[in-house]
Amino acid sequence: MFWWLFLFIFIDAFQIVLLHLFGESPIAVDMFLNVVTTNATEVNELLGNLIPAVLFVFVIYGGGIALSICSIKNQSIIALKFRQSVRHITLTGLLISGILVVTNYSIDKRFELLDDVFPVNGCYNLYLSFGRYADGANYHNTSSGFTYSAYSTRPDSVPEVYVMVIGETMRATNMGIYGYHRNTTPMLNKMSSDLAIFSDALTMSNTTHKSVPMLMSPIASEQFDSLYTQRGILTAFKEAGFETSFYSNQRRNGSFIDFLGSEANDAVFVKDSVSIVDNVSDSTLLVLLNKKIHNLKSKKLFVILHCYGSHFNYSDRYPEEYAFYKPCTVVSADKEYRNILINAYDNTVRYTDYLLWRITKALEGIDAPSVMLYTSDHGEDIYDDYRNRFLHASPTPTFNQLRVPFLIWTSKQYQNKYPELWTTLQSNCKKPISTSLVAFHTLLDMGGINAKYFCPEHSLCNKSFTVTKRLYVTDHNDYKPLDDVGLRQVDIQQFKQNNLRFP
Ligand SMILES: [Zn+2]
Repeated sequence: MFWWLFLFIFIDAFQIVLLHLFGESPIAVDMFLNVVTTNATEVNELLGNLIPAVLFVFVIYGGGIALSICSIKNQSIIALKFRQSVRHITLTGLLISGILVVTNYSIDKRFELLDDVFPVNGCYNLYLSFGRYADGANYHNTSSGFTYSAYSTRPDSVPEVYVMVIGETMRATNMGIYGYHRNTTPMLNKMSSDLAIFSDALTMSNTTHKSVPMLMSPIASEQFDSLYTQRGILTAFKEAGFETSFYSNQRRNGSFIDFLGSEANDAVFVKDSVSIVDNVSDSTLLVLLNKKIHNLKSKKLFVILHCYGSHFNYSDRYPEEYAFYKPCTVVSADKEYRNILINAYDNTVRYTDYLLWRITKALEGIDAPSVMLYTSDHGEDIYDDYRNRFLHASPTPTFNQLRVPFLIWTSKQYQNKYPELWTTLQSNCKKPISTSLVAFHTLLDMGGINAKYFCPEHSLCNKSFTVTKRLYVTDHNDYKPLDDVGLRQVDIQQFKQNNLRFP
C-alpha cells in the first residue's frame, strides 16, 4: 500500500514543509516547477535552515519507507483485525470529508474541487506543471519565427548605454529611500537628484521564474502564455541596432530566464564556471559591465545584470566587511531569530545600494548618455506578522512580497539630451505602477526604439502613460486584480499606512 500510494505520500510530505513555511495554500504549480528550476545551492541553503519541518517529514515518511521495505522483504502480512480497524477509520474520514466538500460547494461559489480539495489540487497542479515544463522545453520551436520589427527612431548612432539591473528578493519596505527607519541606502540617498524613485511599485508575481521573464518581455500587457511564442527585450534592442549583453549571477535552471537571457550577443552566467558550493558576489557583474562599457566603440549598448541580491541565505550575499548590522550570522531560519535575519537582510540591502552606486559611477565615467533601471523580481516575508510567513513564492502573496523598488537613474548627459523624457519620468513617480508591465515599454521608449508590442501608455517617460488596474499572475497563469489574490487585512493595512493604492 505504501508504495502504491507513493505519489500521495510524496505530495503529503511536500505539503507539510510548505505549510510550515507559508501556513496555508496547496502545493502550487510554481512550487513543482521550482523543484526543477532551482539549483543545488539554493536547496542546500534553504533546507539547511528548515530543519524542524524536514526532520518531521523524514521521521514520519522515512520511517514508513523503511517499514514498508522490511515488510515486502519479509513478506509479512498485516493482521486482519488491524486492517479492519484502519478501514473503519479511513471510511469515516472519507465520509466526513465528503460532507465537508458538499457543504463547501453549497456555501462558497468560488469553491472548486481542482483548486480547494487536497490532495486533488496537489495532483492537478503536478499534472499542470508537466505541461508547463513541456511548453518551456519546446520554446525554441514555438518562438523561432518571432520578430519585434524594432527600429531606432533616433537618427544618429552615437553611443548610448542602458543598463537594466534585475534585483533578487528586494522588498522596498527595508530600503532607506522608501522610508525604512534604518539608512540602508546611503548611496542612493546621495544621488537622489538623478533618480526617479517610483514610490508605489508592485510586482505582478512573487516567483523568480515568472517575474523575471515578465520584466524582460511585454507579456504583462498580453496573456501570460504568450511567453511561449515571443522573445524578450534583448531581441528588441538587438533588432534596433544595439549591442546587447546579459550577465547573470544566478545559476542556469532551464527556465525562461535562461532562454531570454541567451538572446543577448554576449550572455554570461558567471556561476557556470564555479562549483555549487562557491558563493559569487554580485560585484562580479560590475566587473563584466566595466569591461563592456570601456570597450564601447561607436555602438549603442543595452545590458541586463541579473543579481542574486537578497536571496536567502542572506548572510551569504555580501562580503564579510559589509556586515554593517550585527549580529547577522543566521544560525537557523526560525522566527525566534528574526532580529538576526533582519540584520543580515538589511546588510544585503546596503550591499545592493553600494553596487548600484558603483554602476552609476561606472556609467558616469564614459562619454555617453546613460540610464540605469533597477527593480527586483519580488519581495520577501521575514516573519513580519501573526502569519509567521517566511521567504517568497507562496501561493497567496503578501504585501511584502509584492512591494518592490523601482528606480531609474539617468546621467547628466542623458538629462540634457532628452529633457522631456526625464521630466515626464519624474512627473510619474508617485503614480501606482506594475513593474512587470512598465519595465519593457519604458526601457524601449528611453532608448528611442519603436517596435511591435510597444505600448506608449505603459511607458513611464511617455506623455501618454496611463495608470491601469494592477494585476497579479496566479499559479494557473491568469491575471487577477489585487483584491482577489488572497491578500489579508494586515496586507491591506500596509497599503494604507504607506499611502499606496489598493486594489
Ligand atoms: Zn526571485
